[in-house]
Amino acid sequence: MFTHWLEETVEEISKRNLTEFTFSTGKTPSGHIHIGILREIIICDALRRIFEKRGAKVFFYLFMDDFDAAKRFPYYIDTEYQKNYLGKPFALIPCPFEDCGCESYARHFGNEIISTFEYFGIKNEIIWTYDLYQKREMQEKIRIALENTDKIKEILKKYILPTLDNERKQLFIDMQKTWIPAMVICDECNKIQYKATDGSIQPNRVIKYLKKEREVLYECPGCGYKGKKSIYSGKLKLNWRVDWPAKWALFNATCEPAGKDHSVKGGAYDTGIEICQKIYEYEGPIKLPYEWLRLGDQDMKTSKGIVFTPKKYMELADPEIYRMLILRTNPMKHISLRMEEIPQYYDYYEKMENLFYGIEKPESKEEFDFFNYLYPLTKINDVPIHKPSRIPLKLLIFLSQMQNILTPNKLYEKVISYMKTLNDESIISFEAFKALLKRTENWINEIKSYITSLKDQKAIRSILNKIEIFTIPETIDKKLSNKLSDDQINGLKTFRAYLGDNDYLDADAIQNKIFTIAKKDLEIPPRKMFEAFYLLLLGSKSGPRLGPFIQMLDKSWLMERLNQLL
Ligand SMILES: [Zn+2]
Ligand SMILES: [Zn+2]
Repeated sequence: MFTHWLEETVEEISKRNLTEFTFSTGKTPSGHIHIGILREIIICDALRRIFEKRGAKVFFYLFMDDFDAAKRFPYYIDTEYQKNYLGKPFALIPCPFEDCGCESYARHFGNEIISTFEYFGIKNEIIWTYDLYQKREMQEKIRIALENTDKIKEILKKYILPTLDNERKQLFIDMQKTWIPAMVICDECNKIQYKATDGSIQPNRVIKYLKKEREVLYECPGCGYKGKKSIYSGKLKLNWRVDWPAKWALFNATCEPAGKDHSVKGGAYDTGIEICQKIYEYEGPIKLPYEWLRLGDQDMKTSKGIVFTPKKYMELADPEIYRMLILRTNPMKHISLRMEEIPQYYDYYEKMENLFYGIEKPESKEEFDFFNYLYPLTKINDVPIHKPSRIPLKLLIFLSQMQNILTPNKLYEKVISYMKTLNDESIISFEAFKALLKRTENWINEIKSYITSLKDQKAIRSILNKIEIFTIPETIDKKLSNKLSDDQINGLKTFRAYLGDNDYLDADAIQNKIFTIAKKDLEIPPRKMFEAFYLLLLGSKSGPRLGPFIQMLDKSWLMERLNQLL
């Protein structure tokens, strides 16, 4: 039995008895790249850490496949623009946004995600596939493929044919008659594939390989141009089923995760391994299949509606939480990232941290071992000697919703004094605090807009039970004094006097005082008294637990609020 699922892969990799390890991942930069891709990247990053810790030399690559052609564009790309560039490699398409200044379409969207890696603790090297194909060593892989076309066709046939129905079997056999495993960028129109009016995609495939000259002939299906090209021109690209094993062989990939579309039977991973072994004489990487990451109940697709990027995530929540989600979950299980469950994620993280630092007692040895293994892998930086100080999320949720009545300095003072009550001497900087406050505010706004999209009242209530969302109106309702009974007014007056007499009040004292005022002084149900406070402070009949809420407010602000009414 393994402590953690990663250990199984680690053991399998270790059996190869290597001193150098290469982990690889890949992505086509066809638009905003959503956060799902970080699943395979973070898994590999964890492997990188594990093997580096053992003193091994580790390479960790992300192949940005910008030599891939644009088959379609996402909805947010201008339609005129789409027409002009369909069929061209992403590396050769200019950035779609004005005055952006980046090199290409691929670099725009590629760099967007790459720039977030350091914040997720990911240390990898980026290889732009188009650049790679300009190099002699990759071009040699094209030569080898062209000289082994028949063998490659046999391998593909062996794996793919059994997965097809009769009609498609025949189509496949016909297609293979003229098939050659490389494509060319047309000298005339710069396209590498053509989308016919019936929607079918026709690659600009090599039609003949001239072995002696090391050249290929092609006839562009887009513009009809016939040309001849050296295989060392940098204008040739391998078919995607061959491109993958060629890169594995070139970089000696030890392990590469595979999303479920590639890990199916007869998929590109299986054919890739055999091509890698038989054509490129390298055993190929260990396959690590993984399930998709979903956003709530929806699939994330680059080309369709939902775009949730790592950058967007960082504006809402802590990257360590994301690493934890990925690494705690077996890759064969799908993950639903639910932003409304961020508080539960934080609780889980806190528990893991407490067990790691021996602050809490584990329920079992298995539980301790699991968290002990997982925790360091979730950290962005080195593991601190002592448990890092953290402002409770609940407090941040409170404070971020008080920004309209309290200045950032006042909110900061509240946090510092609160942390002192926890005997936490480490002081968060003002700047770091403001950033946390902003992130919490963004997250609350995200949840608010999510709630308005929901129709199921039960689902809404269940979220609101876990996250205390409120708005403090800047002024009180003008008709408020008419809405309150004499008892309620008197109760508020008593509380005002109590507030004036006491400099510091804790949450329990406030809560108890309101109870006493209602039950002893006025002999009314406490509920009535609480309602009066909520109406005064929030303009609604309910709200977060009153004691802690009032404690967080500024005393002079509260006095003024009471004076406005009374
Ligand atoms: Zn750009
Ligand atoms: Zn052409």
